[in-house]
Amino acid sequence: MPTIDGARLLGDLNRLRDFGRYETGVHRPTYSPIDMESRHWIAGRMAEAGLEPEIDGIGNILGRSPAPGPKLLVGSHSESQNHAGWLDGALGVMFGLELARVLPGQIDVAAWADEEGHYGVFLGSRSAIGDVTDAEIDACRNATQGKPLRTALAEAGLADRPRLRVDPARYRGYLEAHIEQGDELEALALKIGIVTSIVGIWTFRVTFTGVQNHAGTTRMAIRKDAGVALVKLCTAIEQRMPEVAGPRSVWTIGRITLSPGAQSIIPGGAEMLVQMRDADPAVLARMRTALHALVAEANAGPCPATIEQIFETTPKLMAPPFRAALGRSAERHAPRLFQHMPSGAGHDAQILAELMPAAMLFVPSIGGISHHIAEDTAPDDIVLGCQVMADAAADILMG
Ligand SMILES: [Zn+2]
Repeated sequence: MPTIDGARLLGDLNRLRDFGRYETGVHRPTYSPIDMESRHWIAGRMAEAGLEPEIDGIGNILGRSPAPGPKLLVGSHSESQNHAGWLDGALGVMFGLELARVLPGQIDVAAWADEEGHYGVFLGSRSAIGDVTDAEIDACRNATQGKPLRTALAEAGLADRPRLRVDPARYRGYLEAHIEQGDELEALALKIGIVTSIVGIWTFRVTFTGVQNHAGTTRMAIRKDAGVALVKLCTAIEQRMPEVAGPRSVWTIGRITLSPGAQSIIPGGAEMLVQMRDADPAVLARMRTALHALVAEANAGPCPATIEQIFETTPKLMAPPFRAALGRSAERHAPRLFQHMPSGAGHDAQILAELMPAAMLFVPSIGGISHHIAEDTAPDDIVLGCQVMADAAADILMG
């Protein structure tokens, strides 16, 4: 079985942290000058590990081994959220690099571009499976400052490069390591999470139409206040949803807007975004039915209500044989200190899973903190996670 070099792994991770270092975290948004500098550095490290790296027209780095024989694709994303943590994504890319060194000729490494959604939705990994059109690229804008993606790609020196496609025939499958980004492993004093599935995310827009009028002269008895109707629905969701949700379901009302939104005007319109996440499509379907029923009840009140679904990803099951290999490896290196668990966050692995068997491993996040400069994982936990993944990769490649 391969033995990883923990000091080398931590050294690489800390070097990558220098690109865009911001207090204890990093600021490395996709295609920024510092992000591109880090991509060229990663490509250089891949070359030193015996891979043939290529940075493609969407910013993906794919380091391919020239050796013949069966291979695993291992990776994650290398950019960060704005002013955020140093391990989100970077950990999985550096795990891939270390695996390529200890399993020479058998590992290709990927750093997918823009998983963090500065310009789009899983742009890099979706492009690599052939799911991003040129028209979509034309339409993408930076979420923070509005810069067109085409401009960003040109400034990054990527405009004239072809976009690479991953060839599924080349691989046994895809492995991705990631920080948990929650506090479950830490709370249970566990060291390794083996992902069973990546949750589906469904988002709905609910709108109420009331009658806009003067806040001082309109009697309470005759008002049609869209804001009041919306807040009543919020309360009903909090009361009713637990009855149909699963034990790990989550739901969030992430945005409420009142129109026109002024202190002396009764809201004539109100809108809310309701997002639900679960790993089981049947549970999501139950939650959607419940939400529709609540909106229908609300619609019978003074303010007509409508609902539309604006976002949907399907839950993605991780490959059972890969999960089993990760379980055997975890049992060897961290006996009784691991569990199987769903991922409440989206990851590139759910995109690669469209094309080939895929699996994920989590290491604990200190305090469950992520997307924040305080994001961290104990060095021993990082090294242990990489060793578990290396053994599992060797196991899968032998099978
Ligand atoms: Zn991430």
